[in-house]
Amino acid sequence: MSPLHHFIICSILVIIFFPIFGFKTVMIFVGGFLIDIDHYFWYVVKKKNLSLITCHYYYQEVMETLEYKEVENVLFIFHTIEFLLFIVLLSFFTSYALLFLFGYLPHVIPDVIFEMKMWKKKVVSYSIIQFLAQRWSHVH
Ligand SMILES: [Zn+2]
Repeated sequence: MSPLHHFIICSILVIIFFPIFGFKTVMIFVGGFLIDIDHYFWYVVKKKNLSLITCHYYYQEVMETLEYKEVENVLFIFHTIEFLLFIVLLSFFTSYALLFLFGYLPHVIPDVIFEMKMWKKKVVSYSIIQFLAQRWSHVH
């Protein structure tokens, strides 16, 4: 999904939960919007380019042209089952993590559904273990 969609969903959730949690609701924004920074991390490593604008256009072009080979088996670290489990575990101990989860789930679930509809198959890695296993099998 586009950053604008994520931003709108986060803003609505912050408005709903602000009267209960106050300024802690910034964690909804972190979990529901800022986690896409992992796309930028991957872009910087792979393309050796620090420009956020070029990065945005790169992903936009990948989606418009449906060039899934560009992002096949890519690891977006905050969009993995391991990261989700870590946050779920953490949410038992701190309300900050719980609020992060309130933003995170409405981000990653539509992300996965959107990607499945767009590519008609699983393209990126949703698991660190799966990613490493695929890397290992390519090397050996
Ligand atoms: Zn995302």
